[in-house]
Amino acid sequence: MRKDLLNRNLVNIKPSATLTMSAKAAAMKAEGLPVINLAVGEPDYDTPDSIKAEAKKAIDSGKTKYTPVEGVKALREAICAKFLRENDLAYKYDQVIVSSGAKQTLFVALAATINEGDEVILPAPFWLSYLDMVLLAGGTPVIVECGPENGFKITPKQLQDAITPRTKWVIINSPSNPTGAVYSEAELYALGQVLIKNPHVMTMSDDIYEHMIYDNQKFYTIAQVVPELKDRTLTVNGASKSYSMTGWRLGYGAGPIELIKAMAIIQSHTTSHASSISQYAVIESLNGAQEFLPKYRNLLQKRRDIFFEGLSKIPFLKCQKPSGAFYMWVDCSEVIKGSNGQLRDGYDFAMYLLEKAMVVGAPGEPFGMANYIRFSYTVSESDIVESCKRIEKACFELVKA
Ligand code: PMP
Repeated sequence: MRKDLLNRNLVNIKPSATLTMSAKAAAMKAEGLPVINLAVGEPDYDTPDSIKAEAKKAIDSGKTKYTPVEGVKALREAICAKFLRENDLAYKYDQVIVSSGAKQTLFVALAATINEGDEVILPAPFWLSYLDMVLLAGGTPVIVECGPENGFKITPKQLQDAITPRTKWVIINSPSNPTGAVYSEAELYALGQVLIKNPHVMTMSDDIYEHMIYDNQKFYTIAQVVPELKDRTLTVNGASKSYSMTGWRLGYGAGPIELIKAMAIIQSHTTSHASSISQYAVIESLNGAQEFLPKYRNLLQKRRDIFFEGLSKIPFLKCQKPSGAFYMWVDCSEVIKGSNGQLRDGYDFAMYLLEKAMVVGAPGEPFGMANYIRFSYTVSESDIVESCKRIEKACFELVKA
């Protein structure tokens, strides 16, 4: 087939560099080698039984047909109740759209608003799909590098400097994938003051890791902290991470009704709606008992502490203690420097770790920072301890060699 028959937006999208690595890791595992995979983006524990039971009930009672594009009303009402209860945000059910995962909510919102040349501000490092989604929607990503000096978070000045007349969106993701950084109430307030002065800029708040937040910190989302922005903010969340429901594909967004209606048009001609069974299950996950949330949170916090302690002992690696999500964002520039030209970037380091230590990490480049690597801690405590030992040994061998 001729290449020019493909969508020209695809030209800018590279196939994932991590694919080679995943294939190698899978081959090593198949050979029976003790590979530890720390590149995973989902919890390792199961969906709670009470939620599974509602899905089974939905199947048995024939809730297996098409639903409204935006999702069944009872689910949209449960989402409104969640926003009010947990985020002090009042939405009416018709300001809510349910999609097949938060990923779809985000993409449909971009597709519904981006005209050619429109800019989307992405504080880097960012969840890698944002970049490709913006490109696919025909927009122009504006990457703002946010280094360790401000905990990998965008400052009000950086935001103001990145805004142009073509800016359509800024995407804020807290807790962040890949850094685990969490924006405080004061930080969101300060960013909000910049946005108030720029009424043409909308905010996409990706809150998917809301419940994975540690050390008794409180979660805030920008429309809650700066109500003046609520009418141009899309607040996105979903069941994937909080309720360990990644495979159920259920995400949602709430915002101005005009935006929700435009998103529904695109969804209506693509996937129509999220699975009816998942929708009924998520009504239970939102309205039912929430006692597993602190249980999961404590489990992840303990793993984070063990992992952070282990990584901190490795002299060549630098890492800030993450406040949320389930990732360690590790600066490996010293180990690259110390490798005497054997490694060029985080991708080489990830490959080296796979071969030498049989530990799989996600190279930083697709997240917007080449000399970093991301490790997930959705594995057992013993695997975390073992990984740290192996990473440390591999680093010493490399730098001494
Ligand atoms: N946002 C972020 C920051 C994520 O890390 C992910 C999943 N990796 C998503 C959104 C998408 O979640 P889902 O589509 O499973 O709801």
